[in-house]
Amino acid sequence: MFKVGFGYDRHRLVAGRAFRLGGVEIPAERGPAGHSDGDALIHALVDALLGALGEGDIGRLFPDTDPRFRGAASLSFLEDVMGRVEDAGWKVVNVDTVTVVEEPRIAPHVDRIRDVLCPVLGLERAGLGIKAKSAEGLGEVGEGRAVDCWAVVLLERA
Ligand code: MG
Repeated sequence: MFKVGFGYDRHRLVAGRAFRLGGVEIPAERGPAGHSDGDALIHALVDALLGALGEGDIGRLFPDTDPRFRGAASLSFLEDVMGRVEDAGWKVVNVDTVTVVEEPRIAPHVDRIRDVLCPVLGLERAGLGIKAKSAEGLGEVGEGRAVDCWAVVLLERA
């Protein structure tokens, strides 16, 4: 028995914020605005896992009106949700993701992201796809004003 989940997130990029993506900090002039650390890749991944479980979305579990989550490391959201996956009797088969952002370049940091996320997801490196591309200068993302992330996950009975 398998279940699939799909998630998406967008954050505005603003000066004076650290650029967090996939649990790592990447040097950049702007970073994602947000109540938490603004890690859009983890937020998309969390929504994909919750979607597969049929348990709503990240905004319901970790509302941005809750002061407990101000400045929170999004990795803690992922750890919480992976606990829910395990408690419900599922495990992750594989994950694939796409990030669209103009700056900074993500490719040099993919191995570091995998090193952080794979242990939490219970995956070997090959089980986590991290793909990044630019928006060719088009639209809000292309103008460097936002980052978009998509994630798809496959679960199987543990
Ligand atoms: Mg978000």
